[in-house]
Amino acid sequence: MDCLFCKIISGEIPSHKVYEDEFVYAFLDIYPCSEGHTIVLPKKHIPRFTEMEENDTSTLFEAVNRISKAVEKTLDAQGLNVGINNGEVAGQTVPHVHVHIIPRAENDGGGS
Ligand code: 5GP
Ligand code: ZN
Repeated sequence: MDCLFCKIISGEIPSHKVYEDEFVYAFLDIYPCSEGHTIVLPKKHIPRFTEMEENDTSTLFEAVNRISKAVEKTLDAQGLNVGINNGEVAGQTVPHVHVHIIPRAENDGGGS
């Protein structure tokens, strides 16, 4: 499968791993919006969030919640943006579902 994120999950392309279990893989974004910018993926190759089945979204977001808490605590972040770009017109550049976790601080210039 010629998918960048599938290659990251398999280790064919190196990444800075943050978390891994049977269903999800999380790693640091190569072009971070802020320190600790993390991407969480389902291991199953699904191109878009709106193509996911409900039980897969539950598994993904349980992990996103756990990882968000860990990122916030580890970096002592004041908040996080947690989000998905769904589809090319919405800014999705890699067609394998992924959730961005972006640590935020007051007056960090990142907008809302
Ligand atoms: P999207 O724009 O699709 O929502 O997010 C894709 C993200 O993947 C971008 O924030 C981009 O910086 C990140 N990214 C793209 N290629 C790589 C890579 O090879 N390694 C890592 N760690 N992140 C990548
Ligand atoms: Zn993939």
